[in-house]
Amino acid sequence: MSFFPQTPTADYRLPTPLLTATNRPYWEAAREHRFLLQRCRSCASWIYPISVACQSCGGVDDYDWTAPSGRATLSSWVIYHHAFDPFEQADVPYPVAEVELAEGMRMVTQLVGIEPEGYREDLELVVAFRDVTPEFTAVVFTPSDTDAVPEEAP
Ligand SMILES: [Zn+2]
Repeated sequence: MSFFPQTPTADYRLPTPLLTATNRPYWEAAREHRFLLQRCRSCASWIYPISVACQSCGGVDDYDWTAPSGRATLSSWVIYHHAFDPFEQADVPYPVAEVELAEGMRMVTQLVGIEPEGYREDLELVVAFRDVTPEFTAVVFTPSDTDAVPEEAP
């Protein structure tokens, strides 16, 4: 059960993110396998979801793209049995995870290197990257321990 392909593919059929002036650094960093988020210069709060404004102090366009720890825990997940979008019809059932970053923000993402049977609350994770197309890399997470159920049995 895999939502994103394992290797970049020219025939990837799902919509890819719409790049804007605000979110472009996030996606460009991901393509280089770097995880960057905005951090407010005024109050040092992390800004997520990506925004021009700090959700803590209201500062606008006053942030740096900064590397968080890359550590997270699994906070919740669902298994989609009905496609959220017609493009995803061939992938059902597929899991979608919510992870809590060590910095406190929650992020909707997917897990790699583990099947949903191995998901458990507070599973420790580290950031990973999945090259989906030559232009688009998804930020995903993978278990940080070696006890997790491997995605593919040897
Ligand atoms: Zn702020």
